[in-house]
Amino acid sequence: MTLKNVAFTALLFSLTLTACQAQRKTQSVATKRATAAYVAPTASEIEQKVDALLRQMTLEEKVGQMAQITLDVIGKGENRYSSFEPLSLDKAELKKALVDYKIGSVLNTANNRALTPQKWYQVISEIQEVAMKGTRLKIPVIYGVDEIHGATYTAGATMFPQQIGQAASRNRALVRRGAEITAYETRASSIPWTFSPVLDLGSDPRFPRQFESFGEDPYLAAELGVAMIKGYEGEKNDIGQPEHVASNMKHFLGYQVPTSGKDRTPTYLSEEALREYHLPSFKAAVAAGSHTLMVNSGIINGVPVHANHDLLTKLLKEELGFKGLVVTDWADIENLHRRDRIATSDKEAIMLAINAGVDMSMIPYQYEPFCQGLVELVKEGKVKQERVDDAVRRILRVKFALNLFEKPTTNPKDYPKFGSKEFEEAAYQMAAESVTLLKNEQQTLPLQKNSKVFVTGPNANNMRTLNGAWTYSWQGDKVDEFAEKYNTILEAVQQKIGAGNVTYVPGVSYKQGGKYYEEAADQLDEAVAAARNADVILLCFGENTSTEKPGDLNDLYLSELQTELARKMAATGKPVVLVLSEGRPRIISKIEQQMRAIVQLYQPGNFGGNAAADVLFGDVNPSGKLPYTYPRYPNATISYIHKSSEEQTKAEGVYNYEADFNPQFPFGHGLSYTTFRYSNLQMNKQQLRKNEQLTVTVEVSNTGKVAGKETVHLYTSDLYASDITPDVKRLRRFEKIDLQPGQSQTLTFTLTPDDLAYTNRHGKKVVEAGEFEIRIGELVKKFTLTE
Ligand code: BGC
Repeated sequence: MTLKNVAFTALLFSLTLTACQAQRKTQSVATKRATAAYVAPTASEIEQKVDALLRQMTLEEKVGQMAQITLDVIGKGENRYSSFEPLSLDKAELKKALVDYKIGSVLNTANNRALTPQKWYQVISEIQEVAMKGTRLKIPVIYGVDEIHGATYTAGATMFPQQIGQAASRNRALVRRGAEITAYETRASSIPWTFSPVLDLGSDPRFPRQFESFGEDPYLAAELGVAMIKGYEGEKNDIGQPEHVASNMKHFLGYQVPTSGKDRTPTYLSEEALREYHLPSFKAAVAAGSHTLMVNSGIINGVPVHANHDLLTKLLKEELGFKGLVVTDWADIENLHRRDRIATSDKEAIMLAINAGVDMSMIPYQYEPFCQGLVELVKEGKVKQERVDDAVRRILRVKFALNLFEKPTTNPKDYPKFGSKEFEEAAYQMAAESVTLLKNEQQTLPLQKNSKVFVTGPNANNMRTLNGAWTYSWQGDKVDEFAEKYNTILEAVQQKIGAGNVTYVPGVSYKQGGKYYEEAADQLDEAVAAARNADVILLCFGENTSTEKPGDLNDLYLSELQTELARKMAATGKPVVLVLSEGRPRIISKIEQQMRAIVQLYQPGNFGGNAAADVLFGDVNPSGKLPYTYPRYPNATISYIHKSSEEQTKAEGVYNYEADFNPQFPFGHGLSYTTFRYSNLQMNKQQLRKNEQLTVTVEVSNTGKVAGKETVHLYTSDLYASDITPDVKRLRRFEKIDLQPGQSQTLTFTLTPDDLAYTNRHGKKVVEAGEFEIRIGELVKKFTLTE
């Protein structure tokens, strides 16, 4: 470069800088102005606006607000179930739905396919234009989408690990950050409402949506649920702020524990179990201000939850004081008649659901019978006018809180960080912290970067299985179309150690376009031959992606073909590392002993390949902890929360009443490349009165050679309870810390007598005097709770 050139470049640089600075300055002024322009209304201001609007509304207008349709209904197409590509809206259908029937809400994408942010903006602008210009009262539509682990249906959005992986990270701050980013990218897609988080207790590993939950512990689900809600809605739940969205707690209540393990089938749950295990996450989320809630599509104690007044009105709205809107799940009013046969007609089903406490019906296709039926029911006195007013009040509250009347759409051009490196980094970080090292014999991991690695298995070169369902399409089957630029496990390993050190043969593949559980051998013999030349075998297994009914499963064991491939790999005598990516813990006990190391990725999102490679080769020290109990056998799927009779180890006399609680890996399990020592468990008192707090301290030291993160879990055990048999132990606190080699940290936890309470057989919380244990790691101490 000549001197002149240097000078010129310097000048250009300084000019660019000034221009950039100037631009940044205008931007920050603009941002300030935008922020300054939005002042969140107070609750009473919102109530006044709602009252004023409600007073002007006809019955038909009110009923329309209570109706939600899916996008395909108003998309140009042959029928209501699909739309022509590229998507455009059918003006006549749009007018019929929004103007004639006064529909107040739309959900979902069209054709089960992600759209670009610009397309979303165009579609939602067109909808709002009709709602706000074509109707008498100009009420904006509230648009809702399942933004489950990122902005599901937006091309280019940042995909995080599914909730189960986020739970494994035990990192509240990362969960919150992920939700903030998802809220931003959801608004960048012009959408103000997400049907997330899932607050169901994921305590049945057979259930096809366990990956959507935070796992099997009520406290963990409550803590991370609140973090996620605050991420979506902001600390003060000011959802009109254009980077926030309304969250949705789902699926109220007890959705993930049907007796059969299959989606939307009946369960029997005592009042005690509902309140003690399933309610806490929802209770915490209501207290955290979540604006909306979705109902469980299943049946509890014979009663479809959509028709259950005790749950939806008495418990949720009256006892918990929930003021937001209650939306049904997909077609669940129709289901009361057509599936569950608790109503003799569609119209009676509407009556049952609305009277039970439903505010909005996710219809989603045939809206005419709902609107006409509900109007008639009110006129016939079968649904009270006040009930309809209450429902509409709840819906309008959310619309005003979202500032939709002033700002019915948000424009992608105002969201420059959409899909940015900064966001990708956060998603990667969460993926890296979720990876859970389940087994590591002979310190097989981390692998040497000069190893010759043989990679095999259906999940090795597959973006779909890294992401799971709710990724660019409902079942995740379109992931490959949208996620080309990200690394599969194979690609990330190749990048890490050089393609020359990596050989790959699939061995087994999932059938394209088939059911998620259909697999086929794919060069199985070639895989065995190739494995013989490697130093180590990476077996990338698990299951293909699915959710809801299509994900129902009859056999929790890992598939036969994958089991066969594992055995053949082990027979080569080479060390085998099993890398799992799966939506639920597929049972691996038939092959586990032959695996040297096992790594659980869950469904880690688009950066899961990179995170996996970083853990496998030691650039990241794994710190995930299992958010569920990994079962060893299909007939032994109980969770860590259970009664002593599940693990009775000694029985006196001639009869053997012993019980075997022997999971493959326990809840909370997760290894590291370093070692941690727990010591010095202390309590500030031995005797605790019912109005006092207990302070517990413990010291944790990194006794190994590398830095590492550790989650410290504090459990309590109630040794005897008078009304019901106590659980063996319960998680009450957890904290994740980061320690350098040789470093120690003292953690302090505060417990209140409330943390020691249990729900009795009448559904009441009781705090009972008696002996308790505190357990942190292997350390155990007793104390007494007195009157
Ligand atoms: C699912 C819900 C989801 C809804 C809308 C239902 O089938 O159960 O979780 O929010 O569809 O897509």
